[in-house]
Amino acid sequence: MQSQTQPWQGKFEPIDNMIAPPNSYRTASGAPGKAYWQQRADYKIKATLDEKNNILSGEETITYHNNSPDDLSYLWIQLEQNVNKKGNPDFGDAFGGVRDNMTTKQMQSLTRAIDFPAGYTIKYIKDAYGNSMKAFVNNTMMKVMLNKPLKPGESMNFSLAWSYPITDRSMFLLSREGYEYFPEDDNTVYLIAHWFPRMAVYNDTEGWQNQQFQRLGEFALEFGDYEVEISVPEDHIVASTGRLQNSESVLTKTQRQRLAQAENTFDKTVMIVTEDEARANEKSKTTQLKTWKYTAKNVRDFAFASSRKFIWDAQAVQLETNKVMAMSFYPKEGLPVWSEESTKAVKAALEVYSEATFEYPYPVAISVNTSNIGMEFPMISFNGGRPRNGKMSDNAKSGMIGTIIHEVGHNWFPMIVSSDERKWMWMDEGLNTFLHQRTVAERYPEFHSTEPKDIVPFMQGDKNILRPIMTTSDSELLTQFGANFYQKPTVGLQMLRNSIIGEELFDQAFKEYANRWKYKHPNPGDLFRTLEDATATDLDWFFRGWFFTTDNVDMELTDVKWYKVYEEDLNIEDQQKKVKIAATGEGTEQKAKDFSSGPDMIKLSETPDQAYGQFLSRLDEDALRKQVSGKNIYEVTIKNVGGLVMPVKIEWIYKDGTKETDMLPADIWRRNEYEITKTFLKDKEVEKVNLDPNFEFADTDMANNSFPKVEESSQFDEFKEEKQN
Ligand SMILES: [Zn+2]
Repeated sequence: MQSQTQPWQGKFEPIDNMIAPPNSYRTASGAPGKAYWQQRADYKIKATLDEKNNILSGEETITYHNNSPDDLSYLWIQLEQNVNKKGNPDFGDAFGGVRDNMTTKQMQSLTRAIDFPAGYTIKYIKDAYGNSMKAFVNNTMMKVMLNKPLKPGESMNFSLAWSYPITDRSMFLLSREGYEYFPEDDNTVYLIAHWFPRMAVYNDTEGWQNQQFQRLGEFALEFGDYEVEISVPEDHIVASTGRLQNSESVLTKTQRQRLAQAENTFDKTVMIVTEDEARANEKSKTTQLKTWKYTAKNVRDFAFASSRKFIWDAQAVQLETNKVMAMSFYPKEGLPVWSEESTKAVKAALEVYSEATFEYPYPVAISVNTSNIGMEFPMISFNGGRPRNGKMSDNAKSGMIGTIIHEVGHNWFPMIVSSDERKWMWMDEGLNTFLHQRTVAERYPEFHSTEPKDIVPFMQGDKNILRPIMTTSDSELLTQFGANFYQKPTVGLQMLRNSIIGEELFDQAFKEYANRWKYKHPNPGDLFRTLEDATATDLDWFFRGWFFTTDNVDMELTDVKWYKVYEEDLNIEDQQKKVKIAATGEGTEQKAKDFSSGPDMIKLSETPDQAYGQFLSRLDEDALRKQVSGKNIYEVTIKNVGGLVMPVKIEWIYKDGTKETDMLPADIWRRNEYEITKTFLKDKEVEKVNLDPNFEFADTDMANNSFPKVEESSQFDEFKEEKQN
């Protein structure tokens, strides 16, 4: 192997200095350590929806458990609703400038020309004895002062009362919650999320995770048990995190009977609220309130939806040990696709994810229809996608089903494997998209699911704009986070699974990571370490390149030289001609463009005695000559143009039309990061050589992957054209 002539970049060096060092909380193997600890927050909440004024108000008691080894003299509470509060620093609306021609909606997003009320009014904060507690609000974070420090191992409870105006989801960007108004029947669908003040995370890597909510970076939350009472207009139907505790007082006898039937129906959905009943509800408009009571155990958040428009279907899904109610809630505007597809998609996600990681532990999994977006919470998700005039294109339908699978899948990442979304968006989105795409591929093979080549257009992007995956959530561009935090990690995991580690071992390691960190807070290093620890595969080069840089894969098949061994007794004249050409340098100055001029001849000489050193035994000269006699020797030179080191798959297409592949491990780039030469012995004559023939490594330029060089439009260009249509 020739030595490299350009600067060494250490592409195979350990990433230890790029991730947090192991300690007693997090081991070098990527598992939680002996001293791992985590805070806990239990909530009791009573909330009331004022439909007339679109205001949600509530009282809550938080029991906070300090499991850390530290004394805490104050607590940080998250107030996400303040993100839209007038006068607060607004991180969300300021994207982009004015255009000559723009819509009123674009103008609203840019300038909030139509103002709307937003943000919390905190009515009181009291300790367990009813004494008022001192608090400071800094935008979306509130610091609550403690009279005396909360010691390690101690718990405390305190209460808050609050209210906030629910916002119109059409009025601003990235509206994960709020209300949607339906003018036709004068009704509203409420999606209620990050609605109650929640404990910020305190942990061993961040201390208090009190970074402001800036819309893109989502949530970091502690686990706890919830008792929640939600009072809504009597004719509303509520969909919520948790197990309903008082169905006898909020559901009709018929609804309860249907629900009981659904609990034993595994092959189809059962309607709990039919379309006709929902249409009747739309007209009733009562102002009397009814209280829905829920409990949820070991969840990191709680969300719900409420409307008199909801149609409701349900069916049971039997997992290995847990029976889950898969349910969907949608207004009639979601028909007919929602009754046909939503709960089915919930079931698909529950089954595939449970098998790939750990069994879904909760009693319900709910999909609620919205006008747009997909947004996840424990046991419940809000999913966009509605037909127009009763019809939906195949594309829109596959998008909608993909969204439902994705958002239900978030129950695993980050709702249970509870990474810090505010800091690392890719940790939940990337891992979740990986399994979501696998669910689509397995359960909906007729739909497109992500493959490595899908990331090529992004990887070809301007390096001045591209950020590495290891970029904190709010530093990414709104135009790029989908590709960088969802698709790129997905493709990376696909490469590890399908081409680098192998399916069986990878799947076991992925499962290991999920099980090690369920109900805990993993960091990127914990994932990287586990994937190495559980597979005996050095992947530092992969994590370094794929996660920490914006380099891309572009392998160039620079040259393929064809040789045969000169043999005294065969075609002496022909062979001598070739040897002579090679010897005089003729034909070597100008690289052969294809195999048409035939093989060059190599003369094999006997190995001299001194080459054996102290060995007394000798290589069997005749046997070796026999092994190479008449065979084709190919010397392949590959350049790494893109910068990412990767395994190289070489496809040989023989003259007789048959094919064969060789896989060179990424380690070939250890000693020369820029160019490698490798020699192959082949029985058959080769007609064509291709690198990465199946787009396994997202090579960004397929035009330089073949010998003879492809002059006409390459496969990749065809693929690009396809994508643009
Ligand atoms: Zn997501």
